[in-house]
Amino acid sequence: MFSLIDSHIHLDAPELAGTGTDLLPPARLSGIDKFIIPGVRVSGWRGMLALAQQQPGVFAAPGLHPVFAEQWSAAAERQLRELSSEPQVVAIGEIGLDAVAGPPLAEQEQVLREQLQIALDAGLPVLLHNRKATGRLLDILRELDIGRQLGGIWHGFSGSLSLAQQLVQLGFKIGVGPILLCETARKLPQAVVELPAAALVLETDLPDMAEQPETLVAVAQKVAELRGWSLEETARITTENARQVFGF
Ligand SMILES: [Zn+2]
Repeated sequence: MFSLIDSHIHLDAPELAGTGTDLLPPARLSGIDKFIIPGVRVSGWRGMLALAQQQPGVFAAPGLHPVFAEQWSAAAERQLRELSSEPQVVAIGEIGLDAVAGPPLAEQEQVLREQLQIALDAGLPVLLHNRKATGRLLDILRELDIGRQLGGIWHGFSGSLSLAQQLVQLGFKIGVGPILLCETARKLPQAVVELPAAALVLETDLPDMAEQPETLVAVAQKVAELRGWSLEETARITTENARQVFGF
C-alpha cells in the first residue's frame, strides 16, 4: 500500500456546506493520509484550525487569498500571527497575486508582503497562488529570498518548463494537480517529465479542480506513467517532497 499527501485541498470550502470531513474516510481508504487545507478568507481560519485539530492527518495553512485581499486588517494580521504558532499550522497560504480577480495588484502586493513577513517570523513555508502576475510574484519572492529561507509550493502549476525550473532554483516545489489529467494539457506534462523528482508534490485543489479527494490517486497515476515510475514510487517520492516542505 502507498500513502499520498494532498498538499492543497479546501475541505472547509463553503461549496461543501460542512460535508468536507465526510470525504476523508474514503480518501484514507484509497491511500491519501495527509491533507493540507489552505486559507482563503479571514472568516475561515478558526474553522480550518478546528478541523485540523479534530481530524488526524489534516493540517492547516491559514492565509488570505489575494482575491480577498480587501479583508486584510490589523486584527487579521494579529490573528494570523497567533495562528502561525499552532502545532497543526504547517504553512501560510494561499497567498500571492491574482491579476484576474480581486482588488488592484498594488493592494494585493501589500497584503502578500505582510503575510510573507508573518511566514518569515514564524519560519513557515508558503503556498503560493498566481494568476497572470508571474513576473511580479517572482520578483517579490526573489527580493525576500522566500524560497531559500522558507520553501513552499507554487500551487496549481500550469506554466512552462522554464518557469518551473526557475521556481525550483528559487527553492519551491511544483504543485501538480488535476490539470495534468486534461487531454489538452501540453506544458504541464512536459514539466512533470523534465523536472527533478524532488520538485514534485501533488494536490487536488478540491472543490475547484476535483470533486473527490481520490482524484489525487489519478494525478499520481498520471505522474507515474509520465515518469516511468510505479505508483508506489510516485507516492514515496511526492510524500517525501511534501514532508520536506511541511516538516512533519
Ligand atoms: Zn486553492
